[in-house]
Amino acid sequence: MLREQENGLPLLRFVALAGMEGVVHAVTTRHGGVSQGAHASLNLGHSNGDDPAAVAANLERLRQALGLERLVWAQQVHGTGMLGVGGSESGLIGQADGLATDQPGVGLLIKQADCQAVVLVAPQRRVVANLHIGWRGNVHNMAQAGVRFLRERYGVDPAELWAGISPSLGSCCAEFVNHATELPEDFLRYRLWGDNFDLWQITMDQLTEAGVPIQQIEMSAMCTRCAGQFFSYRREGVTGRFGTVVGLR
Ligand SMILES: [Zn+2]
Repeated sequence: MLREQENGLPLLRFVALAGMEGVVHAVTTRHGGVSQGAHASLNLGHSNGDDPAAVAANLERLRQALGLERLVWAQQVHGTGMLGVGGSESGLIGQADGLATDQPGVGLLIKQADCQAVVLVAPQRRVVANLHIGWRGNVHNMAQAGVRFLRERYGVDPAELWAGISPSLGSCCAEFVNHATELPEDFLRYRLWGDNFDLWQITMDQLTEAGVPIQQIEMSAMCTRCAGQFFSYRREGVTGRFGTVVGLR
């Protein structure tokens, strides 16, 4: 990923998406915000015990750094629900694990602390989406649900889609000692050693099976538990949330 800095915020960007006209996106780190203690400092999550005023200030810093009019997010529930975002919503807009829009000025925010955010961009039709995919999202094939929503709601051909898989739990750290009950049997082909699974490859395969061309998928391949610049639930327990945003100008 590209490492950049805007308004004092370190931001990461997918190489292919960074060059796209009219598309704005970024992955945040834990740095550049005002939260203290376990949430230091750019915590974007409201539900982990941080001061709400600090979270609001962090979200505002992010919005300004990206030059967007508003940010929207949903209460993420490890399901496959998608919400289409129109021209006026702001802040928390409901319960879902995927957001999509064809409206300029709004940033779709997925909050993370080891789960994947998967950014989808249809540059010709000018539609973007952002998906929250934890291991439960892999089990329920959220990637496919997101691609299907873009086709049905906005007429996006999956072959047009570009995808970015954000920093998240790598196979180095994705240990599932209870995989016999938690993961379907056909995920065993993604078991690399011991009880460690390659969740990135599962998402990559689910995207390609949904019709996204493999050469249009970029994987950050950064593990949040190993790389100290992100919040990681597996590493820290009580921690903040970093985020991935995509929008249209
Ligand atoms: Zn790791």
